[in-house]
Amino acid sequence: MDVKSSELKKQVEQCTECEICFDYCPTFRVTKNRLFSPIGRLETAKIIFNNDDVSDEQVEAILNCPECGECEPVCPESIRISDIVATARVELAKSNKIPLNRQEKIMNGIIKTGNSVRGNPEARLNWLPEPYIEHESDTLFFAGCLPSFLVPQVATSSYMALKQAGIDFQILKEEGCCGIYFYDAGKRDLAEQEFRKNVERFKSLGIKRIIVACVGCYRCFKVYYPDILGSTDFEVLHVSEILAEQQYLSKIQKDPNEKAVTYHDPCRLGRKSGIYKAPRELLEARGMTIEELPRNQENGICCGAGAGIRSLYAGLSMDIAESLLNSTPEDEIVTSCSFCLFNLSQAAKKRGINKKIRFITEVIIEKNE
Ligand code: SF4
Ligand code: SF4
Repeated sequence: MDVKSSELKKQVEQCTECEICFDYCPTFRVTKNRLFSPIGRLETAKIIFNNDDVSDEQVEAILNCPECGECEPVCPESIRISDIVATARVELAKSNKIPLNRQEKIMNGIIKTGNSVRGNPEARLNWLPEPYIEHESDTLFFAGCLPSFLVPQVATSSYMALKQAGIDFQILKEEGCCGIYFYDAGKRDLAEQEFRKNVERFKSLGIKRIIVACVGCYRCFKVYYPDILGSTDFEVLHVSEILAEQQYLSKIQKDPNEKAVTYHDPCRLGRKSGIYKAPRELLEARGMTIEELPRNQENGICCGAGAGIRSLYAGLSMDIAESLLNSTPEDEIVTSCSFCLFNLSQAAKKRGINKKIRFITEVIIEKNE
């Protein structure tokens, strides 16, 4: 066990079982299963770190945590529960205690087709609103697997918003995957291979700055790449961050038809990265009134999709999304994460909830261009 893991191992012992976190844990809120609460996960992590036997349900408790970190700001002991869960996954993966075919299929798909969502590589650029033209730039817009195949409005509107702002960038014809699925699955060796491959490619293209629309790609490039590789020599920006820079923000036209919306803080962009202001500034520049959720920013509510749970436990993931949808004050929700957009939209459709979910750049682009 490395230094970081041993620090986390000590934190496992610090839980006083005060249960303050229970109301803040989305998997506990919808299942009422103590095993799927922070306490249950800390107890399970302790067993895993001690190399003792774990049951299938305990393995599930580690895999069905979206690593949202909702429990962390309220924990009086400052226990880094989501990092502990991530470390427990690495230990489980090392000892081959993750018997999930679905996870294997997704990982094989990334290796064979370069994307995590079973998309046809030849259709990768179908989201592009104009013919692909090779263009050199030290800034790359990396669309991501989910926006490229499952929620193309994210990729298209981000591309258009960047163009309309006058930002110079290139895109990749064969983009590939950021590799976050390997990292989240605890397969750090496969993650390292994918990360190194991408870093080499970015280097050969002279990329100094990467703009992403997907919050998974954001966290992966910004946090997981340096975690595994030590450091990287490119800057990582979410599309909402760059568009909220003053010179671009001032170009956004107010739209008299836009009205009140609920803004949803994605866990990995909000609580985990501290980006709360930029997306709100974009909405306000467009003339929208923001109605906040009962909990927001650092205490923002998880949509239930992250860290691989949407692919493994879709029912639980959608139960969490449904409970979030039912707590939004407005019928229209804007989010800055493609995964939240996907999960919330699917839950609204499949559970018959009449709410519309849009991506941040869909709201601000000029549609008559
Ligand atoms: S990270 Fe999220 S799902 Fe996991 S234990 Fe904490 S609140 Fe619950
Ligand atoms: S809030 Fe922290 S100390 Fe209290 S039960 Fe949850 S994890 Fe344990």
